[in-house]
Amino acid sequence: MLMKILIVEDEITIARFLKSGLESEAYVVDLAIDGQQGSFLARTNAYDLIILDYHLPKQNGLTVIEEIRQERKTPILMLTVCGDPSRKIEAFKLGADDFLTKPFLLDELLWRVYALLRRPPTWQANLLKVDNLLLDLTQHSAKNHGRPLNLTRKEYCLLEYLMRHQGEISSREIIMENVWDMNMDPFSNTLDTHILNLRRKLKAAGGKNLIHTFPGRGYKLATKRF
Ligand code: CA
Repeated sequence: MLMKILIVEDEITIARFLKSGLESEAYVVDLAIDGQQGSFLARTNAYDLIILDYHLPKQNGLTVIEEIRQERKTPILMLTVCGDPSRKIEAFKLGADDFLTKPFLLDELLWRVYALLRRPPTWQANLLKVDNLLLDLTQHSAKNHGRPLNLTRKEYCLLEYLMRHQGEISSREIIMENVWDMNMDPFSNTLDTHILNLRRKLKAAGGKNLIHTFPGRGYKLATKRF
């Protein structure tokens, strides 16, 4: 499942390290560098998870949790340098779901993220299939006619999104909102380029064209255009 995560962290090296670590696991990641921005983004976007630093400029982590909880139930994983249990308890009371003390291993963070996002098995299938195209959600890999497709991370995310909405026309705006982070320029041709590359790779693996363009309306992944 395509998951969108918000990181609120003012230490830019940690923030970048987390972002790239999560992106390599095919999460879509937005970044906020202070409490105010974090609180705003968390309340105005549909994230699946928020990773929130305790000490933040402009507004501290506890205030951010309070504000988010007035409007949303998004799981919150809190980062802290302090082992003081009373602080953690306070954060839990306000609505934090989990804690991680710095310094931590990326692996531990990824497992906590995975645990917080865990869904009942019926909700989460491991494979998506359309025609001869097969997407493995645990391996983040795709095959067409049994041949592996060598996809970039973004191409994979885009393909996953289109496959989850197979048979529907998805607008450019919706696709970009779900597959790219907020730094994506909505007027750039990045989406078109990714669609072209996906089509080319699917074709090279011997498949027919499954991604159809509807000018002015968007894209649809289906075995037939209509
Ligand atoms: Ca900090």
